Amino acid sequence: MTQNKILGALAAIVGEKNVLASESGVAPYLTDWRKQFSGPAVCVVRPGSTAEVAGVVRQCAQAGVALVPQGGNTGLCGGSVPTGARPEIVLSLSRMNRIRELDALNNTVTAEAGCVLAEVQRAAGEAGRLFALSLAAEGSCQIGGNLSTNAGGVNVLRYGNARDQVLGLEAVLPDGRVWNGLRGLRKDNTGYDLKQLFIGAEGTLGVITAAVLKLHPKPSASATAWIEVENPQRAVELLSHLRNACGDRLTAFELLSRSCVDAVLAHRPRIRDPLPGTAWAVLVQLGDSGSDDALHALLEHALGSSAAPNAVIAKNDAEAKALWSIRETVPEAQFSNVKHDISVPVSKVPQFIERAGAKLAAAYPQAPIFCFGHVGDGNLHFNVGDAALLARRDEVSRLVYEIVDALGGSISAEHGLGQLKREEITHHKPPIELELMRAVKRALDPQGLMNPGKVV
Ligand code: FAD
Ligand code: ZN
Repeated sequence: MTQNKILGALAAIVGEKNVLASESGVAPYLTDWRKQFSGPAVCVVRPGSTAEVAGVVRQCAQAGVALVPQGGNTGLCGGSVPTGARPEIVLSLSRMNRIRELDALNNTVTAEAGCVLAEVQRAAGEAGRLFALSLAAEGSCQIGGNLSTNAGGVNVLRYGNARDQVLGLEAVLPDGRVWNGLRGLRKDNTGYDLKQLFIGAEGTLGVITAAVLKLHPKPSASATAWIEVENPQRAVELLSHLRNACGDRLTAFELLSRSCVDAVLAHRPRIRDPLPGTAWAVLVQLGDSGSDDALHALLEHALGSSAAPNAVIAKNDAEAKALWSIRETVPEAQFSNVKHDISVPVSKVPQFIERAGAKLAAAYPQAPIFCFGHVGDGNLHFNVGDAALLARRDEVSRLVYEIVDALGGSISAEHGLGQLKREEITHHKPPIELELMRAVKRALDPQGLMNPGKVV
């Protein structure tokens, strides 16, 4: 089929104005958030309903043209943009942004894939409920992208990953058929849990079009604290202490190295350092029913009986926001360097930081290390050097990943594989696991049309 014929056929499905083919029309969809990956597209197509997605996918399957699903394009592994290896069409889900249903008594919301995460949080909040997924990109990332990357974020400690928020799913298969699995059931043991195949698949097995998501009681009280810790070992001990003292009220436990705080202060001079001069800090969040006062008292009591004397507890929402803004500014404050998104068992976090830090210091004595993230989940963002070191990315990462492997960790804790780590993962996963992944891919997408060049 010629290019013009494909464009015409797609326009017949979604309307002419929703097929973008001009250079300026497609440009915003071709480059990833970090500006590290970019590739050409035949066009960008913007369906407005599941039926339209199905029509587009069927059309592409018939023409043998590959598809790249795209949500908010905030992914950090180059999964949402074309590779340029073959003709590809970007399938933007942005127009599919309806909340189809919110069932407060079932504690579920049914949202379309293009709903921006913050909008789903808002809808849940208005109904007196909490949608627990939360990450710094929540103002632009979309539910379809969140599920396709199995996003993590700052509430995983209490509520789990994106995967744990899903009860039901609707997806368009690579041949254009629609699978409606939009069940809002908390118990359903009727064979393989197919929705979990699509979650975390980064668009390689089909297009997620909607999901039934779990809601939780909305906490009425919160407490936020910035706490000095002498070193990562003390941080992990404090985590254990706070979990014992506060139970499930502890929702976030984030570690920040001095280098991260300094980078934030340099990047945003108006931000204030809550505890100047400390080598390491943790940012802690508690949530509960009841009153702020009671929760603050619990946190103060827990900290009083810990070995962490130096802490700032936010007195109000504005102070809490100011503390969180430090954590949320870290990604942009050290934008260009060699990034790692690793996990190890929580108890081995201090060992990882020490061993990887020592190896890097020996090999690249001038390179700063920005170590921060979700210690409560054993997940660290461990970024090295500056833009100049990017030319040596592979050798830097090899040093880091050797330690990750030795400690039984993962080279991608929350951002996925995309194109960035597609080759690298083959050195870390057992061959039988890779073989099973490829078998699943072949079974669902025998033509290899869904997001080629990503994941497997
Ligand atoms: P996109 O980037 O558009 O796509 C991501 C992948 O999913 C691609 O492979 C794409 O093809 C596929 N995809 C998208 N929509 C669909 C669909 N409907 N069906 C099938 N496949 C689809 N991530 C975390 O996990 N935790 C964090 O704390 C976190 N913080 C971040 C902070 C910042 C400042 C930024 C920029 C990113 C952060 N991320 C984080 C990464 C990113 O926000 C997440 O991966 C997010 O889930 C991606 O959503 P998106 O809608 O932008 O997806
Ligand atoms: Zn993160």
